[in-house]
Amino acid sequence: MKIINNLSEAFEFFEAIRLNKVVGFVPTMGALHQGHISLVEQSLKETDLTVVSIFVNPRQFNDKSDFENYPNNQQMDMDMLEKVGCDVIFIPDNKQIYDNYAGYLMNFEGLDSKYEGEFRPGHFQGVVDVVFRLFDIVKPHKAFFGQKDFQQLAIIKKMTAQAGLEIEILSCPIVREKSGLAMSSRNERLTQTQRVNAASIYAEMKIVANSINIGDKTKQWSNHFVKNIEKVEDLKAEYCIFCNPNTLEELDEVLQNSVVVMCVAVWCGKVRLIDNIILEF
Ligand code: AMP
Repeated sequence: MKIINNLSEAFEFFEAIRLNKVVGFVPTMGALHQGHISLVEQSLKETDLTVVSIFVNPRQFNDKSDFENYPNNQQMDMDMLEKVGCDVIFIPDNKQIYDNYAGYLMNFEGLDSKYEGEFRPGHFQGVVDVVFRLFDIVKPHKAFFGQKDFQQLAIIKKMTAQAGLEIEILSCPIVREKSGLAMSSRNERLTQTQRVNAASIYAEMKIVANSINIGDKTKQWSNHFVKNIEKVEDLKAEYCIFCNPNTLEELDEVLQNSVVVMCVAVWCGKVRLIDNIILEF
């Protein structure tokens, strides 16, 4: 496994390798878990050379303490990547990403203003800034993102199309712990009890997913979810919405032959967790 942390080496290596190999790319912020590894496995299946970047991007943290407390296990990350068969790890530092690079100006067309965007001002601009820069350095043919960050995925797809980048953006399913809790690097900050309580998030989502019907008002189900979540110790729902998977437009009613994404954000103590389920009617 090759490790690159020098920017000119990165440019040179990635420029050359893409001529002979289909390059797959998995951007991450480290503190890897099986969710990240599933993206790497997908890339290994679909491409000739898999690159993983590890960079905790300060610009996408609207909350300073979230950034400062973000878990960091670089040796463990490298061991996991070596074991799964990753080909290249790219570990840039902040200067290499942001010196002489102001960011990428995209037209979000409203995709960034709702849900995560509303509660995390500046977050998606930070994500777009770093992903655009990483795409420019790694120049992959395919890039793999988790469905877990559903709004991020929609925004990255739009950014790639708007910028005319020839990169295929692929979505990979959410990997969950046995309890159903969506894997997240932030789960490491939960206490044992909180981890048990946080499993109610997916359990309650599944109850809604199994009960909601064509013709239902979505508000009724988001109220139901919020009410039940708040019965669980330490949990507080920030939002529960039902939206169109492409435009992210919020849907008031469930229509026949439609696809709806139920997206939630829930605080568990001081840790903010997100999850979603795609529903087909
Ligand atoms: P992060 O390191 O949190 O920025 O995540 C890097 C990538 O891993 C993003 O594309 C995430 O959507 C994806 N990811 C994070 N958690 C999961 C999960 N539980 N299942 C699948 N993909 C995930």
